[in-house]
Amino acid sequence: MKKVAIITGASRGIGAATAFTLSKKGYHVCINYLKNEKLAKALCTSINTSGGVAITHKADVSEEAEVQSMFNKVNAEFGTVTHLVNNVGVLFTKTAFSEISAERFTTILTINVLSAFLCSKAFVKQVQYDGAIVNVSSVASRTGAPFEYVDYAASKGAMDTLTTGMSLELASQNIRVNSVRPGFIATDIHADGGEPDRVNRLSSQIPMGRGGNTQEVADAIAWLLSDEASYVTGSFIDIAGGR
Ligand code: NAP
Repeated sequence: MKKVAIITGASRGIGAATAFTLSKKGYHVCINYLKNEKLAKALCTSINTSGGVAITHKADVSEEAEVQSMFNKVNAEFGTVTHLVNNVGVLFTKTAFSEISAERFTTILTINVLSAFLCSKAFVKQVQYDGAIVNVSSVASRTGAPFEYVDYAASKGAMDTLTTGMSLELASQNIRVNSVRPGFIATDIHADGGEPDRVNRLSSQIPMGRGGNTQEVADAIAWLLSDEASYVTGSFIDIAGGR
């Protein structure tokens, strides 16, 4: 069966590593991005010149119309989307919860959770049976990220509940829904929070004594999507060095 995957937020970081990894495993991949067109196109070229098949698609996946256009384009170019990675996630500057504005809280929930809901809905509408979704959550859904990003942590908690609910609702259609919960992974998301070197600073708090890399997350996502995980649904894999 032809395997077609959309990876949201794949211009860089975990999403980019996942797109590359899936392409190596024979998936046709759609690299979704919002602002970083250069990076997305460079990744696409690198996949296509190394024997894979990829396209890029710019879309704000927290907007329903843009999500639908993305699925329409991928359906037209590759056929049915059989696999979906809801990877988009953002955070803002570290701050105490009492300083977080209602606007910021709403934005975080919209980008991190509504996007996964909208993409999953569009996915199910066109695949109907036999497919797999991986939601990229965070260890923050367990820790709550106090004094840093409780809004972000709350969005990941919501995502975990979404994973559980969707997995049960879609099980009879053989659409598996699972989640990965990364810990501290070296990507540019930490610079967005105001601390590019965050992973190194916190490495002493990680039982394994180091931060993770994007490939370590991508490999777990690829496994959850694969037929090797055919009886796995509603599961969460923490990729956090024991944290
Ligand atoms: P990242 O490097 O900041 O990448 C985020 C990606 O999301 C970018 O490709 C960005 O695209 C895209 N994006 C943001 N808003 C978007 C929107 N509205 N529509 C479409 N694309 C959008 O992040 P990362 O560290 O790889 O994180 C990926 C996921 O892992 C996130 O869900 C994050 O919460 C989760 N996670 C990360 C860590 C970590 O330590 N890195 C830990 C736990 C969980 P553009 O650049 O094109 O705008």
